[in-house]
Amino acid sequence: MLNPDINKTELNKAGNGMYELISELYPFCRSITGNGVRQTLDTLQKHIPLQINEVPAGTKAFDWEVPREWNIKDAFIKNSKGEKIIDFRKSNLHVLNYSIPVNKKVNLEELKKHVFTLPDRPDWVPYRTSYYQENWGFCMSHNQLNGLPEDTYEVFIDSDLTGGSLTYGEFFIKGDIKDEVLLSTHICHPSLCNDNLSGIALLTFLSKILNKQSLKYSYRFLFIPGTIGSIVWLSKNEDTAKRIKHGLVATLLGDDSDFTYKKSRTGNAEIDLAAEHYLKSTAIPHKTVDFFPYGYDERQYCSPGFNLPVGCLTRKQHGEFPEYHTSADNMDFVKPGRLAESLAVYLEILNILEHNATYINLNPKCEPQLGRRGLYEKIGGTNETQTMQLAALWILNMSDGKNSLLDIAIKSGIEFRIIKKSADALIECNLLKRYEI
Ligand code: ZN
Repeated sequence: MLNPDINKTELNKAGNGMYELISELYPFCRSITGNGVRQTLDTLQKHIPLQINEVPAGTKAFDWEVPREWNIKDAFIKNSKGEKIIDFRKSNLHVLNYSIPVNKKVNLEELKKHVFTLPDRPDWVPYRTSYYQENWGFCMSHNQLNGLPEDTYEVFIDSDLTGGSLTYGEFFIKGDIKDEVLLSTHICHPSLCNDNLSGIALLTFLSKILNKQSLKYSYRFLFIPGTIGSIVWLSKNEDTAKRIKHGLVATLLGDDSDFTYKKSRTGNAEIDLAAEHYLKSTAIPHKTVDFFPYGYDERQYCSPGFNLPVGCLTRKQHGEFPEYHTSADNMDFVKPGRLAESLAVYLEILNILEHNATYINLNPKCEPQLGRRGLYEKIGGTNETQTMQLAALWILNMSDGKNSLLDIAIKSGIEFRIIKKSADALIECNLLKRYEI
């Protein structure tokens, strides 16, 4: 059974490990297809035995089609003196992601039509894409654009849009039962740390931990390009999707802000109850929001034709922090300690799913005499004793075959962990047993 107890030293080590992995992946120029994605997945293979899948361009996936693969070797803007004023090699954010190749001379007015900036944050460089509409362009700071004189500029993008394929990574851990927990993250953003390298790093380390434990559920980790990746995966795995009983989309997990849990489409799936209960009962600062049909890949998992119980656990949500999709989402914006905290929260929520079950009180007529049954010796001597006793009363009263341990935890407001420990003690005292339908 999953043991979420990870001591402080191990957790700090994992935090540093995730941060190091982010710094290793940071320079790669990722997109929804191409070699940056392959480099990323190859790097993850040093940590986990990830299966890498290639889906040819042109493959149909419901209403979509896998686009042509995009790769880029170099890009720059030079002024008339031959000085590079923008250099892709310094930051891959400088190129409009999925730009078509270009090699020509333009005046300032023409150049401006192809430059993206952030007037509100004049020192930062935005991240922009043009996946499904052919265009070329550059991104730079607003201050730099304002300082450009009239001149003839050489614009050069050495990119390539050919057949190729879409690449994604999948890692499956077999548990005792076939029912699955899905953990999914997008891998298509270039040099941006919180969105999405924090999700990639967290799921890599989470899967390393789970892979060493014996588990009830089977776990499926997906490292996929945003939107098109989940659509392609779902179109190829409709039968597998039926086995997904719980799921989380992971990203935005390394910054200083509080947690946000976005519920699945139904809003009352077990994952929704588990996530909300854990954050609430442990007084972790957070907010819970109802499902809405934009954001990350939960949109596809929760589309009505699938309606999977998949929520999204982040810190601040996309678009809610100024650094989002800009050059300021860099190595300074994410912290090893925050990544470690996020990892611990994921482990605790999965722990609830692993251990949640329904029990039946074997002495339902009036309260049993707990002292005579030896319960107090079993739960005594810790600072949790009082809460454990209270938990025992809740469990005995509500275990009529209709309420799971999670239902009881929610109703009582007592942390699931304590409810579970108390239930174990009641089982030892022959007061409780697993409810079999
Ligand atoms: Zn994003």
